[in-house]
Amino acid sequence: MTGIASLIRQGTPSALGVTPGVTEHAEDYAATGGYGDTLSAAELLDRIADAGLRGRGGACYPTAAKLRAVRDAGRRPVVVANGEEGEPGSVKDRWLLRARPHLVLDGLARAAEITGAERGYVYLSDTTAAERVRRALAERAPHLPVEIVHTPHTYVAGEETAVVRRIDGGPALPTAKPPRPYEQGVGGAPTLVTNVETLARIALLAARPDHGYRTARTTLLTLAGGDADPVLAEVPYGHTLRSLARAQGTPEPAGALLGGLFGGLIGPGSLDLVLDPDALAAAGTALGCGAIRFLGPDECPVSLASAALSHLAAESARQCGVCVAGTGAIRDALATLTTGTATPDIAGRLERWSTSLPGRGACGLLDAAAGTAGSLLRSFPHLVRSHLDAPCPACDAAAGSGDRLTVAVPGVARRAVPHQRTSAPCPR
Ligand code: SF4
Repeated sequence: MTGIASLIRQGTPSALGVTPGVTEHAEDYAATGGYGDTLSAAELLDRIADAGLRGRGGACYPTAAKLRAVRDAGRRPVVVANGEEGEPGSVKDRWLLRARPHLVLDGLARAAEITGAERGYVYLSDTTAAERVRRALAERAPHLPVEIVHTPHTYVAGEETAVVRRIDGGPALPTAKPPRPYEQGVGGAPTLVTNVETLARIALLAARPDHGYRTARTTLLTLAGGDADPVLAEVPYGHTLRSLARAQGTPEPAGALLGGLFGGLIGPGSLDLVLDPDALAAAGTALGCGAIRFLGPDECPVSLASAALSHLAAESARQCGVCVAGTGAIRDALATLTTGTATPDIAGRLERWSTSLPGRGACGLLDAAAGTAGSLLRSFPHLVRSHLDAPCPACDAAAGSGDRLTVAVPGVARRAVPHQRTSAPCPR
């Protein structure tokens, strides 16, 4: 991955920061308004609510409501910066922790102030990000104890109950709900498990409350597809998906896979949908974590759906029998479509699984598997039929082409010595 793009208007507070390819130091962050104290915790919570900030981890839940629920849960809470992004194709959280650790830590401290939390955690699998966060904590000590907790990198490790379980010393696997972490989380305390970009936007709101609406309606996206390099971009809501594809370098996409694997496939006729969580949900898809993979003109959606199911079946935590059987069955069915060996009843079976399986696992993995199958049927019914009639050359070409779902985190250099400001130009 090489590209970092900002499609936001000049002057909008930015999560990409001033020098996106370099880890930001505390003094540089403070110089842009970070760690300031212009708002009280109550005022900031009002700003977050007024701006309509919603979570950037996938569910798009209103952030102010989540903060209030933890604050009012009746015991001294815990706050967690969740930097574990399990959706393939999403890199924005790891990049954010590597490039702007102070922005995330500032947001975590402000979330602690709002909720009354007495300790915090940064939860992640990325060792480079962990090193940058550790240095940031050493540079500027937060007002509450903050511990870094590592997890193995898996699809389910960032699910909120898996986060709690791992911090409590167990495996990073989801547990049954209720209770949800805001009721009973780390050590039994009410726990705010919040995506790191959400925390970054809380800190941006604190620094520039006059830009609240724009800050809440701008988001980090990981855009990939076609032959062009993936791009990490910061984009305001309202752009069409088609314009984002153009900006990424896939000018004539044949469709897209949204939200990592959370939003499923959309066809070319849906590319005029605008980037907006509500508009996308109304159209039957989801922005999720902000990872969008456009289908190049030579790519087959059936092949991509099959790759997605192979990934999900391999990542099943194998705790729920229905998930093990369901993801395996959908994976095998889609594989027969790609090899031209499917039986005529395949559309019926995919339809049945897509409606009967959602909600039956302990986490969202089974929902993603069922949703991918259902979205393939909805968006590309003609292709499901045509794969019964003859082998698909595009599926054949994609077989064995390696991992098409994940992208690399953009490079972030570490500056060893903090930037020294000079009052006069260097004489030459
Ligand atoms: S739904 Fe699947 S991935 Fe999720 S907890 Fe159950 S077995 Fe694990």
